[in-house]
Amino acid sequence: MFHINEDYLKLPGSYLFSTIAKKVNAYQSANPDKELIRMGIGDVTRPLVPAIIDSLHKAVDEMADEKTFHGYAPDLGYEFLRHTMAENDYRARGCDIKDDEIFISDGAKSDSGNIQEIFAKDSKIAVCDPVYPVYVDTNVMAGRTGTYDPNTEKWSDVIYMPCTKENNFMPEIPKENPDIIYLCFPNNPTGGSITKEELQNWVDYANKIGAVIIYDAAYEAYISTPGIPHTIYECEGARTCAIEIRSFSKNAGFTGVRLGATVIPKDLKSGDTMVHSLWARRHGTKYNGAPYIIQKAGEAVYSEEAKKQIGEVISYYMRNAKVVYEGLKEAGYDVYGGIDAPYIWMATPDRMTSWDFFDYLLKEANVVGTPGSGFGPSGEGYFRLTAFGSYENTVRAIDRIKKL
Ligand SMILES: *Cc1c(COP(=O)(O)O)cnc(C)c1O
Repeated sequence: MFHINEDYLKLPGSYLFSTIAKKVNAYQSANPDKELIRMGIGDVTRPLVPAIIDSLHKAVDEMADEKTFHGYAPDLGYEFLRHTMAENDYRARGCDIKDDEIFISDGAKSDSGNIQEIFAKDSKIAVCDPVYPVYVDTNVMAGRTGTYDPNTEKWSDVIYMPCTKENNFMPEIPKENPDIIYLCFPNNPTGGSITKEELQNWVDYANKIGAVIIYDAAYEAYISTPGIPHTIYECEGARTCAIEIRSFSKNAGFTGVRLGATVIPKDLKSGDTMVHSLWARRHGTKYNGAPYIIQKAGEAVYSEEAKKQIGEVISYYMRNAKVVYEGLKEAGYDVYGGIDAPYIWMATPDRMTSWDFFDYLLKEANVVGTPGSGFGPSGEGYFRLTAFGSYENTVRAIDRIKKL
């Protein structure tokens, strides 16, 4: 007789975005004449750039010829992509990362979710609060988070590092030492970035206490402020304490194509055991890692032509971010983010709860955003808007909000 893994059953209620979808559908069916503008979901909307499309077509054609056909990809991913990433993302920035320290995957979500399986079941995790929900959820499913308190919306065995306007959305070193520290910068949902000095403090702390940092760099391409680190390996000592997770989704528009990578330096060890050699046994590998065609498209992301075209897409989104940020400011809201990330994070007015403000915006402005409380307990009283919509809709949404 089969039984369910009880840790799966501990995940509270429904997923944030399904609750939003239900509310939006209910409102739309009751008000079919209203035109909703969606500024909630963290998915890109612009098409893949021509340089990427060309490389996809070429790779598809290679699959039609027995001389250039490709079957299973190699375990770590193709050398052409790992080498290009190591050169462009790391060595060009002075970071010592070797080609064979990069593992290609089908995206950051699966890697950031699966990586915890390497570590002991009794590891204590620390997370920024609020943050991308995958880190906590996957640790819940792994049975690592203790019990859930619906009043505080916290797990008993998770160390929450509040990121609020009081601390400029920067996590502080926790009082209790964690074993695994999840950091995500630029951050989803706050849009905040971390300075090199601040990140260096985390690296020094992790090395001192023997913790591992899992650094999610999904929004690295959006960094516009000079001096903000693009990778944790810009910090001295990161090779002995940090894993970095990268994605082609938000920078190059691969959310539907699927491509990511995880960097594990060979110096990251527990006793004599290299984490690197363990990740070689991860889920995915040949079977649901990224296909040849997609890895070729990933390589093309680094061509001069693609860089230019992708740069234009990012500028398009960041022009939206500016419209949202400045529009909300003008309307008198307390606004953050939007400079090094495609997310604008705002405090709800008059201490409204995040969900009350969600309902208010939906009904009064017909704008759909994301309640901050969905990203962690310290997100209560905040709200996220994204820059991924069309420019026209972004301008219209902000005009509607300004008129409230
Ligand atoms: C969107 C997002 C991801 C997911 O990336 P995929 O490569 O599409 O799986 C990972 N981390 C953060 C913080 C994200 O916002």
